[in-house]
Amino acid sequence: MSEDQELGITEQKEYNPGEWYAEVVEKAELASYAPEGMGGFIVTRPRGYSLWESVQDNLDAWFDETGVDNAYFPLFIPEDYLEREKDVVEGFDPEVAWVTHGGHDELEERLAVRPTSESIIAPYMAQWVRSHRDLPLRLNQWCSVVRWEATETKPFFRTKEFLWQEGHTAHESDEGAWEETLTRLDQYQRLYEDVFAMPVMRGAKPDHDKFPGADTTTTVEALMPDGKSVQGATSHNLGQSFAEAFDLTYSDEDEAERVAHTTSWGLSWRALGALIMTHSDDQGLVLPPTVAPEQVVIVPIWQEETKEEVLQYSSEIAAELEDDGVRVHLDDRDERNPGFKYNEWELKGVPLRLEIGPHEVDDAEVTAVHRPDGEQTTTERETLVEDVEDHLDAVFAKLYAAAEETLEENVREADSPEEIMGTIGQHGGYVRTPWCGDEACEAAIKEKVHAEIVAVPLDESDIAGDHRENAHRAEAIHEEGDECTVCGDDAVETAYFARSY
Ligand SMILES: [Zn+2]
Repeated sequence: MSEDQELGITEQKEYNPGEWYAEVVEKAELASYAPEGMGGFIVTRPRGYSLWESVQDNLDAWFDETGVDNAYFPLFIPEDYLEREKDVVEGFDPEVAWVTHGGHDELEERLAVRPTSESIIAPYMAQWVRSHRDLPLRLNQWCSVVRWEATETKPFFRTKEFLWQEGHTAHESDEGAWEETLTRLDQYQRLYEDVFAMPVMRGAKPDHDKFPGADTTTTVEALMPDGKSVQGATSHNLGQSFAEAFDLTYSDEDEAERVAHTTSWGLSWRALGALIMTHSDDQGLVLPPTVAPEQVVIVPIWQEETKEEVLQYSSEIAAELEDDGVRVHLDDRDERNPGFKYNEWELKGVPLRLEIGPHEVDDAEVTAVHRPDGEQTTTERETLVEDVEDHLDAVFAKLYAAAEETLEENVREADSPEEIMGTIGQHGGYVRTPWCGDEACEAAIKEKVHAEIVAVPLDESDIAGDHRENAHRAEAIHEEGDECTVCGDDAVETAYFARSY
């Protein structure tokens, strides 16, 4: 193998998506595996972490605009706190990692490493809320949580420890909690669509797959090119069940003591996995300019006698773009030839490459190349800054359009259980079909083809406001008198079946 081939991606996305994904993550320097004996853990490298920081920057700005404050709670949760949650939730028991010793001493009460933080946040919210004037209370925490699931490690998709944010809010009324639930779902959808260039399908989880204790679990689902769905983020209207379990009450204007209504909502670094998997290709990582650590790379092409003028021209352009706020990198390494540099920056997912040789200098031009499809255009030196902005927008639009096509072409219908299974087996994607609402009908499909009901339509008609009006959403197709496609009973719902990550 030549050096170039070893550095590059050897697996093909279409035929070996699992191996291909692992190779992209590793070779684009996003993450490494943790030391032996720590299966399920990964090391997030700076290029990977910067993607997470862009998630944080965007969500934090939107959270801030909508009344959320960040806070931080301990990594450990006392066992009796977790027990309290069991009034509502079956619990994460088998998945919980426990601390039993501090130094040499055995702890009197073992401590759980948080699998999620409701059970430690809710009691404090209960202390802090006294009257209706303390509501709404909106907290968010950026942290990692641990769930000890024995699974094969897949960076960002399946790891025992993962980064996420978890929001927890309390409200006076059910309407307040429901509006909150949808506001956060809007923000998650906005992150995927406007930042990640990924259309997602907005919906709800079927009753049997809601967050335990929740009234409604809402979700945004992203369809991967291999036909599997990724649960992109969830936002839960918890009703009063958690508030009752944790005595989260407030005194109303009439002095009466009332139980609050709560929500929780979270997005994990699985979003990065979905981002990487959606856009990347057999040359490596592909990123939208919105999140790319470098939006533009300049590769100068010189001979000994043209080196000085080419580098001079290139660095002027780099400075100009930087002044305009573009994240630009000038690759002026001596020891690498231009072809090597092209491959390396393609592998790392830089959205736009500017090639500058002596001809470009003479003609006061620059050659611009789009990462996703290699489209090459010549642009004038004079209008370069505007043109680069247009090119970056064009790259974003190309990525979005391709992802949207995947989503729109892969929602199908089926008239029999065989057809549901056959369609998922052959094409993947979503199969939407009338459903009776019974989990047993999902189990029948799940057993055969590992597909489950990832979404049902979300009814938001009772809440005013533009909740991503033109967004993709799970739609109801069942009508009065329709039968469940699996069992033949009356259909009360439309189910979206898919295999999922
Ligand atoms: Zn049925």
